[in-house]
Amino acid sequence: MYDVKSLKAEEFISDEEIMATLAYADANKDNVEVIDAILAKAREQKGLTHREASVLLACDIPEKIQEMYDLAKKIKEDYYGNRIVMFAPLYLSNYCVNGCVYCPYHLKNKHIARKKLTQEEVAKEVIALQDMGHKRLAIEAGEDPINNPIEYILDCIKTIYSIKHKNGAIRRVNVNIAATTVENYRKLHDAGIGTYILFQETYNKKSYEELHPTGPKHDYAYHTEAMDRAMEGGIDDVGLGVLFGLELYRYEFAGLLMHAEHLEAVHGVGPHTISVPRLKRADDIDPDTFDNGIDDDTFAKICALIRIAVPYTGMIISTRESKAVREKVLPLGVSQISGASKTSVGGYAEPEVEEEVTSAQFDVSDNRTLDEVVNWLMKMDYIPSFCTACYREGRTGDRFMTLCKNMQILNCCHPNALMTLKEYLEDYASPETKEIGMKLIEKELENIPNPKVKKTATEYIHNIAEGKRDFRF
Ligand code: SAM
Repeated sequence: MYDVKSLKAEEFISDEEIMATLAYADANKDNVEVIDAILAKAREQKGLTHREASVLLACDIPEKIQEMYDLAKKIKEDYYGNRIVMFAPLYLSNYCVNGCVYCPYHLKNKHIARKKLTQEEVAKEVIALQDMGHKRLAIEAGEDPINNPIEYILDCIKTIYSIKHKNGAIRRVNVNIAATTVENYRKLHDAGIGTYILFQETYNKKSYEELHPTGPKHDYAYHTEAMDRAMEGGIDDVGLGVLFGLELYRYEFAGLLMHAEHLEAVHGVGPHTISVPRLKRADDIDPDTFDNGIDDDTFAKICALIRIAVPYTGMIISTRESKAVREKVLPLGVSQISGASKTSVGGYAEPEVEEEVTSAQFDVSDNRTLDEVVNWLMKMDYIPSFCTACYREGRTGDRFMTLCKNMQILNCCHPNALMTLKEYLEDYASPETKEIGMKLIEKELENIPNPKVKKTATEYIHNIAEGKRDFRF
């Protein structure tokens, strides 16, 4: 029985409700009257239900798809402007006791190089990341209670926050580790993490159990209910995602939105972010053995519809996607991207040589440096942002959502983006990137609506040029 407020996975992600949603979507996918009514509701920019959004996903009328894209672009501009927040993943350990059939970390993989960073090695990685200009990390680890217990993760977080190299600092650590207990989530919260990210992989219980045949991750309910435990443990910001390619994308899309609706209904705040990873080639993994891969156009449509369905939720694209695909989906609603990522353990301080035995999680499609990514974004008129202010000012969970819903972002996130970009340009950028960035900042300062904020931001930016750091609104 479907119950959005239930705390039982099989009730808030009810298979019956998803199947009924897909049937409803199929029945209405050519019904222009219904589609127009859904699009009219979407134009109010308050989101859509999983049923409504699923109808749009099923619809293949070209003019209607164009309307969806135009609306996604408008919502993105209204809520997020032209800022793109930058981050990098940091792989701590690839020891794992699970048997996930799509992931090279699976226990039976004997030829992947198993590695776990010592605290000295974590420090080296952090210095390498700071020297690129990164301020925000997502830490990643396999699930292994002996090799990667929560204490190890907490030690790593402490090390990461403690490193201050030249003008560098990691100001926000997001965490992507396996589902855990309320007690452990509380420890992560107390360690000052930003978002807790956990990909559902698939919402289809039967497929989930087949794709995770062994190990603690096999337990569908424990995994699916993780975000409720995280929020019970005090974590305000959680990040959802599915791994596209494993199951039918329309099923996953409905499940993802139902999960978001559940968090909003139970905790009063929806997911902070949604990630849209697609399955990639990796050691011991051939993505062609999975039948449900989606093409780039379907991927773009999914991104646009997530933007429309949950306007207040940030959307993340990793370097699993190529420069070309990133260019296609950035305007449709993406708010965060990773840059210069390495998915190998220790790969920033000591990049792996290609012929060597790898410790990497998957092949990245965007291999550019952070300077190249920043330069590319600015040439397309985006503002690369290294901002971490909201979480450091306590604007998490519903407090962040209030800022977003009141559209105060232009007086807050916009100047913060410009100030952190200025820091990047001063400390890390190549001469060409710096020149483009300085002009962009000058132009964008004019777009701050509140004159007082504009004046202060201009002063702060001047101070950054003189060597001061870390201003924020
Ligand atoms: N071990 C953690 C867990 O159990 O959720 C998460 C860390 S794992 C490093 C991060 C994510 O990488 C997984 O949740 C999965 O979605 C994704 N992943 C695994 N294998 C992949 C592949 N071959 N291609 C793309 N992404 C993959």
